[in-house]
Amino acid sequence: MSASLAGTAADLATRIRRGDCSAREVTAACLERIAAHDGGLRAFVGVAAERALRAADRIDDRRARGEALGALAGVPIAWKDNLLVEGELATAGSRILEGFRAPYTATALARLERADAVLLGRTNLDEFGMGSSTESSAHGPTRNPVAPHLVPGGSSGGSAAAVAAGFCPIAIGSDTGGSVRQPASFCGVTGLKPGYGRVSRFGLIAYASSLDCVGAIARTAEDLALWLDAVAGRDDADPTTLPDAPPVFDRVVAGRDLRGLRVLAPREWHADGIDGEVLRRTEQARSQLAALGAAVGEGRLPAARHAVKAYYLLATGEAASNLARYDGVHFGPRRAAAGIDPTTATRTWGFGREVQLRILLGTFALSYGYSEQFHDAAERARAAVRADFARAFERCDLVVAPTSPIPPFPIGETETDPLRRYLVDALTVPASLAGLPALSLPCGTTADGRPIGLQLIAPAGKEDVLLRAAHVFQLATTHHLARPIA
Ligand code: GLN
Repeated sequence: MSASLAGTAADLATRIRRGDCSAREVTAACLERIAAHDGGLRAFVGVAAERALRAADRIDDRRARGEALGALAGVPIAWKDNLLVEGELATAGSRILEGFRAPYTATALARLERADAVLLGRTNLDEFGMGSSTESSAHGPTRNPVAPHLVPGGSSGGSAAAVAAGFCPIAIGSDTGGSVRQPASFCGVTGLKPGYGRVSRFGLIAYASSLDCVGAIARTAEDLALWLDAVAGRDDADPTTLPDAPPVFDRVVAGRDLRGLRVLAPREWHADGIDGEVLRRTEQARSQLAALGAAVGEGRLPAARHAVKAYYLLATGEAASNLARYDGVHFGPRRAAAGIDPTTATRTWGFGREVQLRILLGTFALSYGYSEQFHDAAERARAAVRADFARAFERCDLVVAPTSPIPPFPIGETETDPLRRYLVDALTVPASLAGLPALSLPCGTTADGRPIGLQLIAPAGKEDVLLRAAHVFQLATTHHLARPIA
């Protein structure tokens, strides 16, 4: 890899600001690397080469004129193809949005541009974010850079693969029930889901609005802190955003040890159904946290056992309603078929199997006569999960668990086993239901080299504590430095 690309976003921005390398050089090197290696991986569904080079040139010109550059000066960043960038295609991994061009830019991406990042291109995802393997994309699957027969996780699998392959130091994702954390863990990179409302959802194509969060994937917690400060905060275009909070970066990188930090490992999450190697590696990571000064204890989160069921009822209910707008009139192509109305014909053609399945499930869960039994029960379970976390956080600062109960699996393996596919989310959906900030960071591999992720979950508003603990862990370990493609 070219020397100018080997660093983190933080290094690159510093070097570009200093003039050690130009933004154009860095962007061009990313584009070259993508051209050389992405044919076999398909992390990207579209590269915005001209747009990126133009943005890089503008940054170089401004620097030449002596203007101060932003925190992400010249850093190339990929975005998941369910976020809008004005004038660019946005497919959400679905045929139903074929040819659709975004009329405006998502707040989370506009703020990156304001911090002088370079938007590089669109990454692959499970259709509308529905999946855990990036296999349900209309563009076809993405492969894991660690080993191409494996899935990269999902639904932000393209973003995780792009960072793992060294195509860009940061890639944006969205996390509704684990879609940033789980692919980060599968690809051996670091992924942050901020708390609900910390980052604006304006311009994010909705899946389940009460759970959707814009997140990011990078190699290091330090880069994620840089990203968070650039994008977080109140946005009038998204009334669910939280008030502005103080920046986190300085507090995160000041971390040297974990003294005084109380970490709780829920007993329920280290039991049945968790792969032995995942268990061993995450337990080692717990010991490392303790060696760094944290007080690690065990506790209970009993309601978490209802989380997957509750999540799939709530998420599909909201999805059924959010996806009603794709009627072949407002967005994308329109289909006709003899004997059926054009809306049905368009939706039958345009939505993939998994999406259709979820629209049916969600519609059923919300229908008259059944909503009390299903939707209302799921809301009660969500409240119980929240209450569990609230109780746990009276005694601790962070909850620790594996990110995924299993390591990355081969492409095609869960095709015939949807239940298994949903159970992969068992450890990520609790933080989603509770709206809490959560992060996954690499903590080792299986004997055959498949990455394993450690998940940390913080109380609302404590992204700084979360990132600081991850930063300290990364100062003391090397798991996050592995590069599957030289
Ligand atoms: N795998 C989960 C689902 O399919 C989570 C996806 C997500 O976070 N977007 O719903």
